[in-house]
Amino acid sequence: MLQQAKQYLHTYFGYSEFRKGQEQAIESVLQGENTICVMPTGGGKSICYQIPALVLDGLTIVVSPLISLMKDQVDALLQVGISATYINSSISAKEAGERLFRAKEGQYKLLYIAPERLESYAFVEELKRMNIPLVAVDEAHCISQWGHDFRPSYRYIQSMVQQLPSKPIIMALTATATPNVRDDICHLLHINEKQTVMTGFERENLTFSVVKGQDRLKYLQSYIKNNQNEAGIIYAATRKAVDKLYDLLVAKGVQVGKYHAGMSDADRSEEQERFLQDDTTVMVATSAFGMGIDKSNIRYVVHFQLPKNMESYYQEAGRAGRDGLPSECTLLYSSQDVQVQRYLIDQSSDRERMTQELEKLQFMVDYCHTENCLQQYITSYFGETNTEACERCSNCTDQRTSFDITKETQMILSCVIRMGQKKYGKTLTAQVLTGSQNQKIKQFGFEKLTTYGILKDMSAKQVSDLMEYLISQEIVGVEHGQYPTLYVPPKGKDILLGKATVSRKEAVVETKKIAVDHPLFDALRSLRREIAEREGVPPFVIFSDSSLKDMCAKLPRTGEEFLQVNGVGELKLKKYGEEFLQAITGFLEENPVPESEGSMEVKPVRKAAKKEKDSHKLTLELFHQGLGIKDISQKRELSITTVENHLLQCAEQGLDIDLAPLVPAEAISLIQAAIEVAGNEKLKPIKENVPDEISYFMIKVFLFLQRQKQMHLN
Ligand code: ADP
Repeated sequence: MLQQAKQYLHTYFGYSEFRKGQEQAIESVLQGENTICVMPTGGGKSICYQIPALVLDGLTIVVSPLISLMKDQVDALLQVGISATYINSSISAKEAGERLFRAKEGQYKLLYIAPERLESYAFVEELKRMNIPLVAVDEAHCISQWGHDFRPSYRYIQSMVQQLPSKPIIMALTATATPNVRDDICHLLHINEKQTVMTGFERENLTFSVVKGQDRLKYLQSYIKNNQNEAGIIYAATRKAVDKLYDLLVAKGVQVGKYHAGMSDADRSEEQERFLQDDTTVMVATSAFGMGIDKSNIRYVVHFQLPKNMESYYQEAGRAGRDGLPSECTLLYSSQDVQVQRYLIDQSSDRERMTQELEKLQFMVDYCHTENCLQQYITSYFGETNTEACERCSNCTDQRTSFDITKETQMILSCVIRMGQKKYGKTLTAQVLTGSQNQKIKQFGFEKLTTYGILKDMSAKQVSDLMEYLISQEIVGVEHGQYPTLYVPPKGKDILLGKATVSRKEAVVETKKIAVDHPLFDALRSLRREIAEREGVPPFVIFSDSSLKDMCAKLPRTGEEFLQVNGVGELKLKKYGEEFLQAITGFLEENPVPESEGSMEVKPVRKAAKKEKDSHKLTLELFHQGLGIKDISQKRELSITTVENHLLQCAEQGLDIDLAPLVPAEAISLIQAAIEVAGNEKLKPIKENVPDEISYFMIKVFLFLQRQKQMHLN
């Protein structure tokens, strides 16, 4: 049967090999086992039930909460020659009846339904009259109250399965499952935990970045401008913020759409349609947008504001790059958004849930402040251990140098104290520091303060950004009352007293182009759009961007060669082969390729999405050649932290490296003293008990050496 599954992968879907986990999941189902399949978004979960549906006799039921997605999913199946349909609230009762009738006749291989259908006695009675070998439960985390999208009607799935005479196999699929959600899914759907197929949560084609203390609007505008041909989503936290951003981008001439729950159904679906059809390239939206978005060629997702938890963030950010091509996920952080999210939690949750939600928010905030690999932070949040740094994210590749800002910080802190602490917010404080003539300042007599105008070389916005940074470092404190007000916490006091220093990396992170397209790509993209319009489906249903790029790389000239392109199956060759081959031939006539080059793959500007294998060993080689950590970081275009982690990794693997010289003698007694106070379980408390000059790396090395000594003694 597995042989047949492979054959179908090729003839229907046009793929030559299974992706990680797919084969195992399909095999498990075909052996009759209830199975849970946990793969990241874009990992290729659909094929895991679609291929068994083809192999098994009868009709596979797919339960999905994403009504707006069903049509596209069914269209995509029809495109490759698989008969399928859906029944949900978007079609009339008459139409639903007709589809059920055809299903009983055996006309479909797959039937997509919304979970609410299962609450209907009559509907389940109809299902009983069909031969159903497999029930696929998509977005299976919706069954769990622990999950972030709990849907009560998912609880009816198991009772439906029990009633069916055909005793179908169950396959649960999800992208976001923390261990307790996974347990819940297995328990409620009667899946033996041994039948778990989990591929890991890392998305190797995504580059995560956090941008802090920067003018967000400017950053966003430059980002969109740099990537104007690419599709992207900008998430904002509130409807008001969406409206504001939308107006601003329209005024700048960007092809932009918007989406939030305050708009009418008709407006929302029109905006969504335009985005899916590639008529608009950018969508500004609240988190209400995207549950039903299967668009595979989204090249970037920018969070203009902080999302409420890591689950939502990874799900939303994960909408980028479903086609496997390099894509970017950027979060623009500002501490005031923490306040917005706290407020939203306060408004919506019951008391019991609130503590849990606040805890989750804290993990989200910590994500913005970690100096370690962002992708690794995410995967470990979802319970995966032993992952390696991605070497793509903004932390792994951060090479900006730090400069000292102790003096400016002292000025700010001293101004906060002089203004009375816990009375005024960031804006007014920045105005005092920059010597603004604002009426309010005169009213309070702040122009008489000695700190009035001491930072007049900077703009109020720059000072405000600097304060943002200090807030993120807990050097300036924020009291969250009716309005957020500022005060000086203990860490700030140390700086005022000259006991500690502060440094900051160069503020500005430049925006880059995500990818450079092949000259043929545009032509193929236009052709795809024409065909999509003709057929009334979104362009990515015809071919994904990754198929178009593969055409550019392989430049097929015959039908046979066209079949070798990733994503071209037999039906698509028949339907579109001629038109695409013609476009490619036309292009080649105008742009002949020199024989020696064969194909003309254009490399993306960013480095290859996949990191090098055994990257830490390359670092070690340079280290042995006598290069310091900073030199290696520059040479390899990796951040200092990544290089440091490589060295630790080498030591932990027992490779030939002596870390001892990397901890200065004077640091040793200080770290020892800190451990006596704070214990050696966690790094942060130790770090808080040593002077700033002692880095996390030194502490880690110290602990490593200590462990080694212990092992020798035992
Ligand atoms: P998920 O449901 O896990 O988010 P999808 O099933 O939508 O992901 O698959 C994401 C993309 O990957 C789709 O464009 C799909 O056609 C493609 N894909 C799936 N399996 C393979 C494969 N074996 N080889 C190449 N591409 C694949």
